[in-house]
Amino acid sequence: MICHDDYPTHVVALNVVEILVALALGVMIVGQFGPWAVMVYVAVGLVALTLSLAFGCTRCYYYGRVCGTALGKLTALIFEKRGKEEFGKSRSQTVAWTLTGVTLALPTAAGLLALSQGPTFSSLLVLTAFLGLVAAIVVTHSKLVCSHCREAREKRCTLGGLGSLRN
Ligand code: SF4
Repeated sequence: MICHDDYPTHVVALNVVEILVALALGVMIVGQFGPWAVMVYVAVGLVALTLSLAFGCTRCYYYGRVCGTALGKLTALIFEKRGKEEFGKSRSQTVAWTLTGVTLALPTAAGLLALSQGPTFSSLLVLTAFLGLVAAIVVTHSKLVCSHCREAREKRCTLGGLGSLRN
């Protein structure tokens, strides 16, 4: 397993573009319920990102480095470093990653609810595009990021550990 200390630019670019497109599709899906729903979705996403940087990335090997999403570099500009040995073990990190999972799940729930209230071609299309992209992110992230990640190799990241096993 070859680990990257700093990820190649093309991997970071692909990851960032995928995540931004997924967030944009997410806004389109929850937007079917009005601007307040978009505000809630964006607020949950921003809180999840901030907590992940503050409690996850500060404890990560990639703090101050270019990880698969480049967030390690961003984190070092904002937050102080924390103990690397705590990575994947602290409750604050579990809360942050759970909220990140909720941010990913919200558009799926909203999309299914919109379909149950009267399916339209556009609501079906945007939900299918979102789910297809999430599936693509799972594959590319595990192949291009987790399989080269030091946290995965040192078994400190459960998700990463799964992703690296597959390769
Ligand atoms: S690899 Fe994950 S936890 Fe580590 S700095 Fe990058 S985004 Fe944060």
